[in-house]
Amino acid sequence: MNTDEIIDTYDKHIMHTYGRQPIALDHGHGQFVYDIDGNEYLDFFAGIAVNNVGQTDDKVVNAIKTQAEKMIHCSNIYYNEPAAILSKKIAEFSGLDKVFFSNSGAEANEAAIKLARKYTGKGDIVATYNSFHGRTMLTVTATGQDQYKLPFKPLPPGFKHVNFGDMDAMKGAIDDNTAAVLIEIIQGEGGLNMAPEGYFEELDAYCKEKDVLLIIDEVQTGLGRTGKILASQYFDIKPDIISLAKGLGGGVPIGATLTSNKVSEGFVPGDHGSTFGGNPLSCAAANAAVDEIIEKKLSENAEEVGKYLKNKFLELKSKYDFITDVRGLGLLIGIELNMPGGEIVDEMRKRRVLINCTAGNVLRFAPPLLISKSDVDKMIPLLDEVFSNIN
Ligand code: PMP
Repeated sequence: MNTDEIIDTYDKHIMHTYGRQPIALDHGHGQFVYDIDGNEYLDFFAGIAVNNVGQTDDKVVNAIKTQAEKMIHCSNIYYNEPAAILSKKIAEFSGLDKVFFSNSGAEANEAAIKLARKYTGKGDIVATYNSFHGRTMLTVTATGQDQYKLPFKPLPPGFKHVNFGDMDAMKGAIDDNTAAVLIEIIQGEGGLNMAPEGYFEELDAYCKEKDVLLIIDEVQTGLGRTGKILASQYFDIKPDIISLAKGLGGGVPIGATLTSNKVSEGFVPGDHGSTFGGNPLSCAAANAAVDEIIEKKLSENAEEVGKYLKNKFLELKSKYDFITDVRGLGLLIGIELNMPGGEIVDEMRKRRVLINCTAGNVLRFAPPLLISKSDVDKMIPLLDEVFSNIN
């Protein structure tokens, strides 16, 4: 099929749930992806912070091939070695002993909410405005953005929202019925918003004081993205539950809900499950992806190249009045504009660079963590050119 035929077929047969960019991606390598017509794109989007190790990483590809030849799926009523190995790796890098495997970020959060309710015997979850936690009915209700959930009323009860970074509001919302606080370290879909200094430490201490579980949604920030394996490791905090997905599988679907031995006792056999969760193929891919992130020191590279990229953005900010903020950590960086960013995304794509726009006016840059300063040096003049055409 050519691009037009693919788009036409999508229009006919695939539900219209996304505003899509008019290119059909065909293959990729590292920080480059190629459309079906053979055009090369420098990828500063990484499938929304998924391809942390880049496309077609040798170790990930070989792990998938080797595992596929042995066994692709087995039921969770049996044990499998790749899941066992992955659980050990996750415990090592997170400090949380137990994991429940699923297939996506929404499922990882769904399990986190169910576990928090079951463990505490309480119903209420406090989340934040502008957060994003997924599209299942519980996670979309936890999400703090009306457009994602109001069309789907009636929503399940038991959710409260407060402003992100406002500790007084958080304290006001937490009461005797609160099971957990569910929060991102950086609000990825909400515009790459960051909390004030000291906020997470205070939140962690307050949750512990009130016997409320702290669930950190690291679906977008996890696996080296922000310059550490987990963004929560920037702070002196001890979350009770952490949800992971996106970067964990090196591009293969997997979700993970991490918790302590103690909180894990909330779930007993029969409480929760997933046919595909923890399947050997996804776990083998994730084992290779985690190894690559650690062995190639991709989080360190994210920190270093991320700083370089952020400085380049700050230079652009001093040049263009319509840039109102530059923020983020590692290789999850946003440029906030005082206007919609969609056309800039289009113009960058025409110049063969993939980026995206979140919250309507924040350009999001989330490349594979292996990008170099020279990739940044290739991208910046193109962005400068696009910006200069706006003035
Ligand atoms: N949590 C966060 C912070 C996310 O960014 C996302 C996806 N953008 C999700 C949850 C949902 O993940 P998934 O699409 O894999 O269900």
